[in-house]
Amino acid sequence: MNVSEMSGNFPVSSHEMTSGKCHFVLDSLVRENIKRLAPYTSARHQHKKEEGLLFDANENAFGSLVTPPFPLDLNRYPDPYAVSLKKSLSAFLKVKPEKLFIGVGSDEVIDLLIRVFVAPDEEILTFDPTYGMYRVSADISGVGVRSCPLDDRFQIDLSRFDQEVSAKTKIVFCCSPNNPTGNLLDENTIERLCKRFRGIVVLDQAYVEFSSGSSLLKKLDSLPNLVLLRTFSKAWGLAGLRVGYAITSPEIVAYLNKIKAPYNMNVISAYLAEKALKNQKKFNQWRKTIIEERKAMEKSLKQFGFKVFPSEANFVLFEATDASSIAKALVDRSKIIIRDFSKKLRLTNCLRVTVGKPADNKRFLTALRRLL
Ligand code: PMP
Repeated sequence: MNVSEMSGNFPVSSHEMTSGKCHFVLDSLVRENIKRLAPYTSARHQHKKEEGLLFDANENAFGSLVTPPFPLDLNRYPDPYAVSLKKSLSAFLKVKPEKLFIGVGSDEVIDLLIRVFVAPDEEILTFDPTYGMYRVSADISGVGVRSCPLDDRFQIDLSRFDQEVSAKTKIVFCCSPNNPTGNLLDENTIERLCKRFRGIVVLDQAYVEFSSGSSLLKKLDSLPNLVLLRTFSKAWGLAGLRVGYAITSPEIVAYLNKIKAPYNMNVISAYLAEKALKNQKKFNQWRKTIIEERKAMEKSLKQFGFKVFPSEANFVLFEATDASSIAKALVDRSKIIIRDFSKKLRLTNCLRVTVGKPADNKRFLTALRRLL
């Protein structure tokens, strides 16, 4: 990377340059009020539940009025940092627990990242079309959103990025496999993006378990501004629990911990997510079946004459003339609900369908064929 690439549009204060090398200085990216913030503390942040008589948090010592079928004390507050879940996840991912942050779904982590780094007069950047929550979270926080279009293969175009990014851009959101297009983003490009952008690069990997894989987890140490987002909502089948997580540097984890609600992760969800991690056999069987079913679905949709976008996720995007009437007719005649993106920019006439169980996929394809 040459020096001119490193200056230009980017917030200069966030890096120091030494002999052409770029050193990442996290603190300079963090909002001033967050740096100054005195975080909420509770006695439970210092003492574990098991350690003694719990007279610190005004809980009900008699118990809870419902008894879950698990060994959990629902009358007690959860571990503020979900340490036990982090340990299991750390073993599963082969990543140190200090690099993990557990959130109430990855949606919570998206919101927290914006609140740590982006001040009201600053902005995020999204590569569109993509997952809608980045913009919604930014809108809720009252920060700006810059949109950089993906190219015609739905890949990041770095020269276009250079045109769109500004000195106020603090976080760039990438999604791979991308929702709703389904494709993986090129990882060399993401690495180059991390090196040339002086803010935070979030790579949302909610669907990564259905893909041919990612090598960026292994490169986290050399990419200090990279935040990977993952979730238990998709491949693990636990959308109802609301457990997602970030894998990133311990310094970024510390900032997320500083601003999160004291007990964001509830005991039941943390316990069940940890249990799920032990059921890897089923996890792998489901992944395999979903991938096979996705391929079959892509093939059938092509045979029907649709343009099908190759997917590495658990859904398929396809283009149909008169997409909205197809989506409506599927609901009206067969009670099959799919997602209509046909009015969205770059997704004219596109529909997204989730890959479900084999019999239901067949039902969808039969209903669709009948309509044609
Ligand atoms: N990222 C992407 C790309 C998603 O599609 C979704 C859910 N649709 C999420 C994040 C949010 O997932 P979670 O259930 O973990 O909040």
